[in-house]
Amino acid sequence: MNNQQLFEEAKKYLPGGVNSPVRAFKAVGGSPIIVERGQGAYIYDVEGNRYIDFLLSWGPLILGHRHPNVESSVKQAVEKGLSFGLTNPYEIELAKEVVGSFPSVDKVRFVNSGTEAVMSAIRLARGYTGRKYIVKFEGCYHGHYDSVLVSAGSGVATLAIPGTPGIPEEVAKLTFVLPYNDSEAVKKLFEEKGSQIAAVIVEPVAGNMGVVPPKEEFLKTLREESEKYGALLIFDEVITGLRLALGGAQEYYGIEPDLTTLGKVIGGGMPVGAYGGKEEIMSKIAPEGEIYQAGTLSGNPVTMAAGLATVQTLKELNPYEELDKRTAQFTEKVSALLKEKGIPHTYNRVGSMFTFFLGTQEKVTDYRSALKSDTSLFGKFFNSLLKNGVLIPPSQFEAWFLSVVHNEEILNEALERIEKAIKEI
Ligand SMILES: *Cc1c(COP(=O)(O)O)cnc(C)c1O
Repeated sequence: MNNQQLFEEAKKYLPGGVNSPVRAFKAVGGSPIIVERGQGAYIYDVEGNRYIDFLLSWGPLILGHRHPNVESSVKQAVEKGLSFGLTNPYEIELAKEVVGSFPSVDKVRFVNSGTEAVMSAIRLARGYTGRKYIVKFEGCYHGHYDSVLVSAGSGVATLAIPGTPGIPEEVAKLTFVLPYNDSEAVKKLFEEKGSQIAAVIVEPVAGNMGVVPPKEEFLKTLREESEKYGALLIFDEVITGLRLALGGAQEYYGIEPDLTTLGKVIGGGMPVGAYGGKEEIMSKIAPEGEIYQAGTLSGNPVTMAAGLATVQTLKELNPYEELDKRTAQFTEKVSALLKEKGIPHTYNRVGSMFTFFLGTQEKVTDYRSALKSDTSLFGKFFNSLLKNGVLIPPSQFEAWFLSVVHNEEILNEALERIEKAIKEI
């Protein structure tokens, strides 16, 4: 069966034919590809078409598909058994690496998704502070947990869903939403409600309204205000952790949060999440403390083996400077190609994560400016790229990624294909 026939089949059994909404390509039009396999910087659909992959499973695959270290580590783990429901050595090793890499993390708890990490971190913050209000920022996505799905980015932005039925008003009311990068709004809210706020959660570099870097004083303001009023600062580093630096955005910008959530890269492509922070806070989690959080498959040995091999390989390669340079050159060239063809655009990049916003030339600094982009033009761009063998996220409001195996030769091929795709729009 070809892509389209398989998708028709999928729709009979899966809502919308998918297990995660943006995969249905609704925002860009056309029928989604069904993936057969990946190799290095490439992904192949069931019809045998090859694509240069800038989606990279939405961020986890910083080493590309099937990196030999990750694959052999996973194979070794599989041969020992898939799950025990008891502690295995891989968990301890990976925890040690996380604590060694993230300046603000003394202890870490592994869970099974970024969503679960955020949900647990928020519970911990509420339990630790004895307060109930959460502050989040417009366009930031922190998974599909009730408290943080208000004014969220990612699929919620892509599909223009204003809120979500199924979240009681009483729950939504416990979340204050402020514009990203707006330090004054943060100060004002803390002045009014500071003593009732349990936590501020932020993507230290936003990736889910498209990439939006933090203004210099923004993260600093969050650190200062939360400290002043006894609220916890949560950095959601599910994308940025191990992506911008081994120690994530907190290392990159030199600002330490109280709690950190991780996912994506830390699982090397396996389902994962993690949250960690200072000893004093983490000790409140059961069984050390009274705040309950558990998981049958948490710390799964195969997942931990994939994560461990990924972290160890990143430590060995220390690829961050080179990734930064290569991504900078690549984005400059893509921008030049768009300009040549007269396509208005602007782009944001931090390290190896970036987004081209089409149809607008205004700098994108928050959700409102991101929404100025022309999503129908983006849809045409996406589909023309796909036809020419280049896969980018099927939404204007997502990050593109580079991996360590996107070398110069592959990027040059990508540029040729992108040039052709732009001509054909
Ligand atoms: C992907 C993502 C999540 C959710 O992770 P899942 O594993 O999809 O549940 C949370 N926060 C951020 C910043 C993300 O990018």
